[in-house]
Amino acid sequence: MDHLKLPEHGRPEDDVLESLKGFAENDPNYREGRTWSLVYHLDDAHDAFTAKAYGAFSSANGLNPAAFQSLKRMETEIISVLAGLLHGGPDTCGVVTAGGTESCLMAVKAYRDMARKTRKVTRPNMIIPATAHVAWFKAAEYFGVKARLLPMNSDLSTDISRLKRMINAGTVMVLGSAPEYPHGTIDPISEMGQITRAKGVPLHVDACVGGLILPFMEKNGVELPEWDFRVPGVTSISADLHKYGYAAKGASTILYRNLDLLKHQMFVYQDWPGGVFASPALLGTRPGGAYAAAWAVMQKMGEDGYRKLARDTAEAVETLKAGIADIKGLRILGNPQGPLLAYGSSDPKLNIYAVADQLEQAGWNVNRVQNPAGIHCMVTAKHLGVAGEYLSDLAKAVDTVRANPDLAKTGGAAAYGMMAHVPLRGMVKSKVLDIFAEMYRAGGGNLQLDEGKAPGLLERGMARYVQWRSKRG
Ligand SMILES: *Cc1c(COP(=O)(O)O)cnc(C)c1O
Repeated sequence: MDHLKLPEHGRPEDDVLESLKGFAENDPNYREGRTWSLVYHLDDAHDAFTAKAYGAFSSANGLNPAAFQSLKRMETEIISVLAGLLHGGPDTCGVVTAGGTESCLMAVKAYRDMARKTRKVTRPNMIIPATAHVAWFKAAEYFGVKARLLPMNSDLSTDISRLKRMINAGTVMVLGSAPEYPHGTIDPISEMGQITRAKGVPLHVDACVGGLILPFMEKNGVELPEWDFRVPGVTSISADLHKYGYAAKGASTILYRNLDLLKHQMFVYQDWPGGVFASPALLGTRPGGAYAAAWAVMQKMGEDGYRKLARDTAEAVETLKAGIADIKGLRILGNPQGPLLAYGSSDPKLNIYAVADQLEQAGWNVNRVQNPAGIHCMVTAKHLGVAGEYLSDLAKAVDTVRANPDLAKTGGAAAYGMMAHVPLRGMVKSKVLDIFAEMYRAGGGNLQLDEGKAPGLLERGMARYVQWRSKRG
C-alpha cells in the first residue's frame, strides 16, 4: 500500500483545526458524562484554562531541571503540596512524571536497583495484590522483577495472611493500592506496613487514582483507613494529577519518604559523547506544558475546590451504590470506599456483560471487569448530574436482558463468555495481541469492525473470533 504524504503545500491553521474537530466526532462522549473511564472532565471552560497554561509552556523542556527554572519550580511546588496532602515528613521528596504508569515503573526500577546495590539481590521479586493495576505487571515484565501475587479474599479484599512468609531475600518491594482499580477497595496498608517494616522491605502505595481525592474526602469527614505516609512502613506513593487532580493528560507524581530512596530512581551516564547526562525518571524530554497545566489547575482549585469536587463525587458514588442495591439481581463488588466501584450479577440467570452491552446501546461508554464479572464505574464530580439517568437506563438494561437471555450469546457478552472458558484462556493473549498488532500494521490495519461504535474494539474483535471459531466447530 502507499504511505500517506504530507500535503504538498502547508494548510491554513483554521483548516487543520477543523479537520481535528472532525476526527473527534466519534470519540467517547465525555462532555456529557457518558464515559465511565479514561476521562476526568469538568467542563469546557476548565479545559480551555488548562490548554492556556499548557500552551504557555508547550515548548519548554524539563529534561534538564537546571535549564528551565520555571518548570523545576512548578515541579518542586507540586511535589511539596502532595507531600503535605499525603502526610509526608520534612524529607519527603519526589518527581513529576508523565503518567501513573511511569510512576509505577519508576518505583519498581528504584527498589530493584536499591536491592541490587544494598543487598546484592540478583533475582528480584515483588509481592503485589492480585488486584494491582496492570502497570505493575508491565513493570514486572519490563524490569525483570518477578511479580508474586497476594490472592483475593472472598470479599475481594487482599489476603495478606501469607505476606510475612512470602517476603524472602529476593523481595525488593511490596505493593498496596489506595484504592485498587478493579473494585475501588483500599488495601490494608497499616497492617501491610507493620509487616514490611519488621522485615525491612519497602512498601509502595499505588494511589495513582486515589491520591488527589481520598485526602479531600477525609477532610470532608469521610472515614477512611490510613493509607498514606502516616503509616510508618510506607516508603513511597504514586499519585496521578491527570486523574482526580483534573490536570491535563501527562502528569503524575511519585513521592518517596526520603532522598536516599529516590536516588535509586535516578539515571546518570557520564561518558556519552553528547555530554554528561542525568535524568530523574523514565522520559528524556519532559513536557513542560503538562507541568504548567497541573500547577495551574492546583492553584485554580485550591483546597475548597478539590473538597467540593470530592463531595460531589462521593455523592454521585452514594447515589449509584444505593441505586444499584435497589435493582434486583445486581450487587456491588468488594468494598469500594473511594471514587471507583464495580457491580456484578447476583443472579446466575442475569448475564452482567449482556447488561453492559445494553448500556452501550443506550449511549454509555462502559468498562468491564472480570474474575468476577462486572461493570466498572470511575465516578467523577461530573457524574453527579447523570447518575439518575444512568440508573434508570441500568434498570431498563437489566429488564431487557432478563426478557432476552439469548443476548448473553452476542456482542461483548459472547466474547467475555468465551474468554472465561479455561481451555481458551491462553489463546486470549495471543488473539488480543493479533488484534492489537493489526491496528498497528502499516496504514492502521484492516479490522473491519466499524459496524458501530459499541461495544469496544477488543470486545468486537473477540466477538468476531468467537463467530469464526463456532463456524469452524
Ligand atoms: C490509572 C492507574 C494507574 C496507571 O496510570 P496511567 O496514568 O493510566 O498510566 C496505576 N495505578 C492505578 C491504581 C490506576 O488507577
